[in-house]
Parts: sequence; structure tokens; C-alpha cells
Amino acid sequence: MTSADQYLIKEQPYYRPVGNEIELFEAAYAARMPVMLKGPTGCGKTRFIEFMAWKLKRPLITVACNEDMTASDLVGRFLLDVTGTRWQDGPLTTAARIGAICYLDEVVEARQDTTVVIHPLTDHRRTLPLDKKGELVHAHPDFQLVISYNPGYQNLLKDLKQSTKQRFGALDFNYPNTEVETEVIIHETGVDAKVAEKLVQIAHRARNLKGHGLDEGISTRLLVYAGQLIAKGVEPRAACQMTLVRPLTDDPDMRDTLDAAVATFF
Ligand code: ADP
Repeated sequence: MTSADQYLIKEQPYYRPVGNEIELFEAAYAARMPVMLKGPTGCGKTRFIEFMAWKLKRPLITVACNEDMTASDLVGRFLLDVTGTRWQDGPLTTAARIGAICYLDEVVEARQDTTVVIHPLTDHRRTLPLDKKGELVHAHPDFQLVISYNPGYQNLLKDLKQSTKQRFGALDFNYPNTEVETEVIIHETGVDAKVAEKLVQIAHRARNLKGHGLDEGISTRLLVYAGQLIAKGVEPRAACQMTLVRPLTDDPDMRDTLDAAVATFF
């Protein structure tokens, strides 16, 4: 198996389109344009990029970014072993070499020096300098950089610079409308339409509380969790408390409010 093969997505991931995002992404990929997927956590961004990588038959390398991440974690580093030192490519370098789609999830989390290393890959240069190794990697013609970005978390200290943002085309994602979200829950969990609709209604109530005591609404991912528990025979109220209420907030009043929303449906 070549190194590219192991990153190929063999089976079609289930993705329910919400608008014309598939066509737009295909056109962006044809232009090898870097793309930013914007939207709250758990609304389908990762699933979308998995689907697109499958559709475009490109390997996908995903990196979950965090605040401790350094540029070396992306680009690579020298390792010591019995034979001496050995260079090991990081995921971004591997993606650039093999012509993969590199998906940097929650790139805002990474330190600014980390985001700067992607700059030469995102303009006409399409290069990645490996300073420590003294090598300039020219990206494979099929390479594309994709990042995700949650506008809800943005604050002055932790935001992408305009000089980074303006290197990407952007697609907005949000929780799907009732019909689509219900369909996704049914497909992902096997619960019936009635249960799925109730879960979506609960989410709508909670999403209205965003900014009024809740930092984020209930994500589609959490609704899928709730459906999975219910499909396993867990009593719906307990399932919702575990997946829709407890993860979201520690505030006792807000928990009561959410519990009450659950109780009106189950
Ligand atoms: P994130 O936006 O955080 O990357 P994910 O892509 O992991 O979110 O989505 C979370 C879950 O929501 C997925 O595992 C999938 O079950 C479901 N989901 C959300 N939107 C869709 C969609 N349009 N089509 C299929 N599944 C979806």
C-alpha cells in the first residue's frame, strides 16, 4: 500500500447536502483554491470534507489543531533513533507531497506561528519550506488546504489574522433546517421520524438560548448521540439529559431550563 492509499476514503460517507456546497467545493478544488469551512461545532463540516475527499478521489489528511500545537507538529521534525537522527514529515508535509486534501480542524486553536507556515502553501508559490531540514517542498498538483473555523469562538486574542483569512474561499455551515436535520438523525441512528423530529425541536429551543446563557446551541452531533442512545433502548428523557443537557452547561438554572425543554417533548 502506498502512503497515499492509506488516506483514501474507500466507502461513500453519508452526507446530506444543504445547499450548493458540493458544486462550490468542486469548483474550488478544480482551481486548487484553499477553502475555509465556517460554522459551529458539530454541524457537519468534517463529514462534508470526508464526503468531498471521497467524491474527488483524493486522500484526506485531517489534523485536529490545539493550542499546544507547534509548527513542527504540522511540518515535521528530526527524531533520534538507534541509527542517529532521522527526519519525519508532519501531516501537512505528507499531504503536500502526496497530493492529499489537508484538513486543519479548528485552526484558530493553533498558535499564530503555526498558522504562518501555511501561508506559502496558500498562494501562487504552493511551497512549504522545511527550515530545519533545509528543504523546500513544492506541493503536488493535487494538494489542497482546507481549514475549519468556528466564528462563535472568535475573540480578539484568538482569531485568524486578515492576512491568513484572505487566503481562503469560505463556505458557511450551520445546523441544517428541520427537514434535513431530521433526515440526518434518522439515517445516523435508526430512530423513527417522530423521535427525530422531537430531538430537532429540543435543539431549536436550546439554540434560541445561545447568547442568553449558552455559549453554543445543541449541535447535530449531540442530536445524533441522543438518537443513538434512544435506539439502544435508553429512556428518551435520560438519553437527552446525558447527551443534550449535561455536556452543554454546568449552570444549574440553565440545566433546569433545558431539562424542562426535554420534558415538553418526551
Ligand atoms: P463538525 O462541524 O464539528 O466537523 P461533524 O462533521 O463531525 O461536525 O458532524 C457531526 C455529526 O453530525 C456527523 O457525524 C453526522 O452524523 C452529522 N451531520 C451533520 N450534518 C450532516 C449532513 N449534512 N449530512 C450528514 N451528516 C451530518
